[in-house]
This record gives sequence, structure tokens and C-alpha cells, in this order.
Amino acid sequence: MDIPKTHPRYESLLLREKITDCLKEGIISETGIAAHGRGEAFDYFLGEKTTREADKAIKAAAELLCKAKNPVVSVNGNIACLVPKEVVELSEIVPLKIEINLFYRTYEREIKIKKRLEKYGARNILGVGNNANESIPGLDSLRGKVSREGIFSSDVVIVPLEDGDRALALKKMGKRVIAIDLNPLSRTSLCSDITIVDNVIRAMPKLIEEIKKFKEKRIEENLEFENRENLKKSIKIMKKNLSNWEVKFSQR
Ligand code: ATP
Repeated sequence: MDIPKTHPRYESLLLREKITDCLKEGIISETGIAAHGRGEAFDYFLGEKTTREADKAIKAAAELLCKAKNPVVSVNGNIACLVPKEVVELSEIVPLKIEINLFYRTYEREIKIKKRLEKYGARNILGVGNNANESIPGLDSLRGKVSREGIFSSDVVIVPLEDGDRALALKKMGKRVIAIDLNPLSRTSLCSDITIVDNVIRAMPKLIEEIKKFKEKRIEENLEFENRENLKKSIKIMKKNLSNWEVKFSQR
């Protein structure tokens, strides 16, 4: 479909097309589409831009990733679809390991996602087939599968878009968890050490920029970050946007 650039929801419609194409290619599952829709709604409330709070979380995440011993990025279908290039860049500059970690795991989908990431230059992708040889305690067998050299032995995991059960289970294993989630109310957002309340398509390039800056400075910053406070502020922004719209409507 040819979407006119003047369409008020141009960017959002382009993303929908991308997501639909990835569904057809078998990269995203049907539930991935539902998750994307939930994200769209929260992005609307957020004003579809990166907030100061998200910027703060991105800086804290950059520092945590750079100081980690065995950091891993967990990639599902939506992430492989929307930000494959950024995942690869992140893996090179931190550097960190890429692990495919699917809620609805099938070998066929693992391979499709692997191939898509390789197209963007990824190497040594973990979590495919027999490489997912360990289990996260407390999760059922398929959802709990992870790679021994990846998520299982990691100290810091970045989970852009994660299900609450798995994020909680990672926390119980003692990992530091960084989430990117537009929904500040999700269990993932609440249990993570750092939640970036932003769209992955805006947050990932900004995270890469911050990591580059952090590496150039080479100083111990020890940024203070309080996740619950940050989440509260993101909710406040959404409330304020909703009130502003309410005022606008009553003036019409
Ligand atoms: P939880 O299980 O953590 O309580 P949930 O049931 O909402 O939350 P899922 O549906 O598994 O979790 O995950 C999807 C989450 O990802 C949603 O919270 C949604 O807001 C968020 N999301 C979807 N698309 C994006 C995106 N492009 N960028 C950031 N977040 C997104």
C-alpha cells in the first residue's frame, strides 16, 4: 500500500506494514501483532516521542551495559522485525551477545529470525536449536529455554519487549534487567532494574548514541536511577497528555 507522507499517522502506518510483512514471512507470531497494538496505544498517550524520563533511563542503561561482564540482548520476533540493524550495532559497540528468545518457540521461526539478523551482519547468534540448552528456573520448558553461554550465564540482559513472567524469572536468577516497554504498567516494566518507556524504534538508536558517548568519556559516572520514580513520571506524562486533549476537545 502507498501511504501518503502527509498522512497524520504516516510513521505508525509504515510500522504496521513492516509488522504485517514480518507476520507473512513467519518472523512475528500473531500474538506479536497484538503486543505491537498494545504498544501503539501507549505510544499515543506518550505523545509518540522520547521523553526526558526515557532519556534518563537510556543513559542509565548505557552505563549498565558498558560495565557488564557478560551482557546479552534478547531478541524476539518483533525486535528482529523492527530494529535488526540496531541489534547488530548494539552487539558490536558494547560489545554484547545476541540471543534469540521466543515466547512461542519453533525451530523454523528461530532460523528465520537468525537469517534476518545475519542479513544485517550479525554473527554467532545464540539460542537457536540445541544451543538453547539451559532452562530458566520456574518457567515451563519451551518458554524457559536459554543458551548457557548467553542469557543463562549473563549478568545484564536487555529485553526489548518481554513477557512479565520471563522478566520476573530473570530477576529471580539475580540478573540486572533492562527493558524497553511502552507500557509503564506492565509486570516487565515494574520488575526491571531499568525500564525505558519508549518505542524501540526511537529508543534503540538513542541507546547506541549514549553508549558511544559513554565510551568516549571513559569516566565513572555512577548515574543514580530509580526505576519506580521514573515509571511514575512516565505515567504522569501520559496523564498530562490525556488532560490536554480533554481540554482541547472541550474548547471546540
Ligand atoms: P507483562 O507480561 O509484562 O505484564 P504484557 O502482557 O503487556 O506485559 P506482552 O504483551 O508480552 O506483555 O509484551 C508486549 C509489551 O511490549 C507491551 O507492554 C507493549 O506495550 C510493549 N510494546 C509493543 N510494541 C512496542 C514497541 N514498538 N516499543 C516498545 N514497547 C512495545
